[in-house]
Amino acid sequence: MEQILAKTKFSDPTSDKKPLIISGPCSAETEEQVLETAQRLAKTGKVDILRAGIWKPRTRPGSFEGIGVKGLPWLQKAKALTGLPLAVEVATAKQVEEALEHGVDILWIGARTTVNPFSVQEVADALKGVDTTVLIKNPINPDLELWIGAVERVRNSGITKIGLIHRGFSSYGNTEYRNAPMWHLPIEMKRRMPELPMICDPSHISGRRDILQEVSQEAIDLDYDGLMIESHIDPDNAWSDAKQQITPERLAELLDGLVWRH
Ligand code: PEP
Ligand code: MN
Repeated sequence: MEQILAKTKFSDPTSDKKPLIISGPCSAETEEQVLETAQRLAKTGKVDILRAGIWKPRTRPGSFEGIGVKGLPWLQKAKALTGLPLAVEVATAKQVEEALEHGVDILWIGARTTVNPFSVQEVADALKGVDTTVLIKNPINPDLELWIGAVERVRNSGITKIGLIHRGFSSYGNTEYRNAPMWHLPIEMKRRMPELPMICDPSHISGRRDILQEVSQEAIDLDYDGLMIESHIDPDNAWSDAKQQITPERLAELLDGLVWRH
């Protein structure tokens, strides 16, 4: 894992190495879906880390809320088959424990968790004494202090490998974007915490496939250190975030289409 990160800007944001590429489904759904996604992503040779949601923080009850702990062995199998390290969202102490027990390499704190200092503190406490990498998404509302506070809580637990994920900001009546990028906010965050790598999540900013390419390009133009893009073997039939997911092969095309100006 460390060697994979070391090849990218994630481990050295001032370098001109390639950005870290994280991809995989919004949600792990079935064993077959996880394994096929992982193998097709690995085949592109362009993906560094496999992501999948196991516990899903859905806005309304009644929609798919994640496969839960039974999906973790599928991810372990995918990692064994492809060599791709794993990234999973965690929101409670128990989820941290279960993810780590199943060999998850990178934990991320989701936008709905970053807004809640009690939850962030619970996750941070569960990370005491653990040597892992933690990515922290921006809070759903445009409040940099909450984002910084979450970094501080995780850091105070002794975690040294921390990265940021910009996934856009929610507001009533968002139209063009699912979550407005407000690019000036991550830029200000980078000014406040220059040592931390910044990853862009164009999938949750866009909420739709047709603008993923341009949002990704904007992030590359702004010298981001990585991209997290959701991918699915059958995007239209995904159990969550169907409108924004793309196939592994389309992801490869998207990445090939980016213009690297650095
Ligand atoms: C996700 O990555 O699938 C997710 C739930 O993201 P966010 O926390 O940004 O809404
Ligand atoms: Mn999603």
